[in-house]
Amino acid sequence: MSNVSGIDKVSGQSFDYIIAGGGGCGLTLAARLSEDPSTAVLVLESGGANLNDPELLHAALFGSHFGKPQYDWAHNSVKQKHLNNRSVYFSRGKGLGGSTAINFLGYCKPPARHIDDWETLGNPGWNWEAHQEMLERIERFQPPPEDIQIRSKTDPSAWKFGRNGQLLVGIPSIQDGELKLTEAMENAGLRPAPQPYNGDPNGWFWCASTCDTETYTRSYSTTAFYLPNKDRPNLSVLTDAHVRRVLTQPGAAGNLTATGVEFGYGGDIHSVRATREVILSAGALKSPQILELSGIGRNDVLSKIGVPVKLDLPGVGENMQEHMALAMSWELKNEFP
Ligand SMILES: Cc1cc2nc3c(=O)[nH]c(=O)nc-3n(C[C@H](O)[C@H](O)[C@H](O)COP(=O)(O)OP(=O)(O)OC[C@H]3O[C@@H](n4cnc5c(N)ncnc54)[C@H](O)[C@@H]3O)c2cc1C
Repeated sequence: MSNVSGIDKVSGQSFDYIIAGGGGCGLTLAARLSEDPSTAVLVLESGGANLNDPELLHAALFGSHFGKPQYDWAHNSVKQKHLNNRSVYFSRGKGLGGSTAINFLGYCKPPARHIDDWETLGNPGWNWEAHQEMLERIERFQPPPEDIQIRSKTDPSAWKFGRNGQLLVGIPSIQDGELKLTEAMENAGLRPAPQPYNGDPNGWFWCASTCDTETYTRSYSTTAFYLPNKDRPNLSVLTDAHVRRVLTQPGAAGNLTATGVEFGYGGDIHSVRATREVILSAGALKSPQILELSGIGRNDVLSKIGVPVKLDLPGVGENMQEHMALAMSWELKNEFP
């Protein structure tokens, strides 16, 4: 199945909210907004639905999606000055679930003080306590089996996780080799994190996975937020629908009001109206791209590529940062299973 809703129910229609991008944030917001049955929500996703796809569901296949156009936008960065002018492969998920469909399932929580900094910087209510409360709402933690807890000297009862949400989070297994690794870290004087999931993750700890620990399958925004709500009559999801630009009207004081979006589908161009909001959740790379194609961005950049400037917003499309990942692997002796 590729299209969850039909084009005829979307093209030329109007919705309260239009969400561009059905990935991690898009499907989460869609689930939350459509809780109110009087609110009509539309999600437009560029890629396919990829429902019940074993390549996505089998947790152990993480990393195998790189470069596959069905799942991955497969970007390459421009040459990076600080990496000896190398270009870097930059994977981003495509299709329902977005990057949560192909990510490495790691579920960690940041230090409390990092989140509290958001509030300090002038965002009232954006603090650790509220952050924990929101996460607990979506989490369904599956504690490791008792034998694993004993062998790994782990006491998950001290970890703060929600138990009744839709996103499955757990520690599926801990192998003998991993126990040896923790011994080695202890011998090297590295301390275990005092509260890995309660606001102090500094040190080593067992990283939870967004995974059903009974079936070893991926839990992601499609399984957690779309599938349980797919039959809501006020929730529409159209896949293979690529948002080209936000439609706007000039408002007061030089502002713009978003009135809908234009999108490509099946080789044609369609539009759809929003009566309340257009939400861009096409990811950190593609949300700014949609803004720029809509004439919202840096004047000099847009003029150079022939996009009429509607709002000169110099921060759009700038300062992209991404963390590097470093993995080390060793071959184990045969005595380790
Ligand atoms: C390979 C990989 C491994 C990762 N590993 C981890 C991990 O272990 N732990 C962790 O916490 N995080 C991990 N992440 C990051 C995490 O998955 C992302 O931070 C998260 O999914 C971002 O959510 P998002 O909604 O902003 O974007 P995404 O989930 O990427 O969703 C964006 C969606 O928008 C769609 N889209 C783009 N352009 C358009 C358009 N013009 N019109 C319509 N739709 C569009 C895309 O196809 C996509 O479905 C990983 C990411 C990748 C790529």
